[in-house]
Amino acid sequence: MAFVTESFLLQSRTAKRLYAAYASRQPILDYHCHLSPRDIAEDRHFRNLFEIWLEGDHYKWRAMRANGVPERYCTGTADPYEKFLAWAKTVPKTLRNVAYQWTHLELQRYFGIDCLLDETTARKVWDEANQQLTSGELSAQGILKKFHVKALCTTDDPTDSLDTHKKIQESGLETRVFPTFRPDKALKTEDAAAFNEWTNKLAASANVDIVRLGDFLRALELRHDEFHACGCRSSDHGLNYCYAEPSTETEAAAIFDTARARKEVRPAQAVKFSSYLMFFFASLDADKGWTKQLHLGALRNTNSRMGLEIGQDAGFDSIGDWPQAESLARYLDRLDAAQKLPKMILYNANPEDNYVFATLLGSFQDGTIPGKLQLGSAWWFLDQKEGVEWQLNTLSNCGLLSRFVGMVTDSRSFMSYPRHEYFRRILCNLLGAEMESGQLPPNEELVGAMIEDICYDNAAAYLGLPAVLPSSEPSQVPVNRL
Ligand SMILES: [Zn+2]
Repeated sequence: MAFVTESFLLQSRTAKRLYAAYASRQPILDYHCHLSPRDIAEDRHFRNLFEIWLEGDHYKWRAMRANGVPERYCTGTADPYEKFLAWAKTVPKTLRNVAYQWTHLELQRYFGIDCLLDETTARKVWDEANQQLTSGELSAQGILKKFHVKALCTTDDPTDSLDTHKKIQESGLETRVFPTFRPDKALKTEDAAAFNEWTNKLAASANVDIVRLGDFLRALELRHDEFHACGCRSSDHGLNYCYAEPSTETEAAAIFDTARARKEVRPAQAVKFSSYLMFFFASLDADKGWTKQLHLGALRNTNSRMGLEIGQDAGFDSIGDWPQAESLARYLDRLDAAQKLPKMILYNANPEDNYVFATLLGSFQDGTIPGKLQLGSAWWFLDQKEGVEWQLNTLSNCGLLSRFVGMVTDSRSFMSYPRHEYFRRILCNLLGAEMESGQLPPNEELVGAMIEDICYDNAAAYLGLPAVLPSSEPSQVPVNRL
């Protein structure tokens, strides 16, 4: 019997009906991911299962390392099949880890493969999947179509050329693809060499001669304008915690000069500069009606030996435990007082912060936009069943689940779209059980409408992406026009 069946994760009859009648029918709006715009523009065809599934997947590397698999088979020089085989041998050892469920959900949804992956089935799975990848419709664009992805937002540096995005938009691709403005490198004054290199790139991309802070801000704003013209409607920041120290323009200008002169910027100064910029970025977002996303609290690159051996961002991150509440409250308060509070989605890496974030953002809902401040979907180490339920329960208890803008893949891989299905099944399972136990009314239309909203319609209405409308509203803008 297959592992992933129609009732996967759906433990009650009501849950099954909710999933079939409401959740499964909604398209996908993946408003935060790390897919390569180039892969989409060029409609990348994947040569084998390694390329589409294992390359760059730190979840799998971590599981393999924990299973005693040498690095040669994770990020090293082993050939693609050897690496795949090492993964296949590891899969049975991942029982109860989300990787086990994702693996079989993905094999089923992409290739119709139902067997359990292990050492004995590895060759058969490899051959079958590769055959479909090379002869079928599972190219980058084919996958977006197959999974009914209405729109997606990539993650882009302000210095990135938007030519690839423009090419996608002009191609008539049915999936709407938009950039997201992620200026993390603008804050890194502590690393003078990297900061100056990035600032020079910014100068070139904005065509501005950057000497003083004012030039730097003008260049950033020009790039923000360019992103807007390309359909971008959100920014994103990956931070340890939200920087919100008092910081005047004079102070920020002096710190900028220090960094540009390649002199040492002390940690306290760097925080002041970041605080100044975070206010500036929020103002830009507020003025244009964008949504600001904050990913807070990940402790990155913890293993220095492995960092030296194989480079950064290779699966050696963890959850951090910085205090979040005070600085985040100060940030929201300052923006609110200045009438520069944009729509915001706050993602916490640490589950300890679920209630902190949910209650804090509740204090800044200002009665203008439904769900203006959002508790972001379960992120990174939390995007498994338990973490998703924690997020849903916290939001339900402290805010309005009905206004939630829903799940994102946050993935670099084209094989991650079933994560939306995974989330939707957990959502329907939770609600179905509560309908059956009498905690929610036995009204499938009422609860079903909320499910449709969370799966797609809320995000479509909230983000305001060009030509992306809730499925209940008729399209008024031609699909291939911004
Ligand atoms: Zn991300």
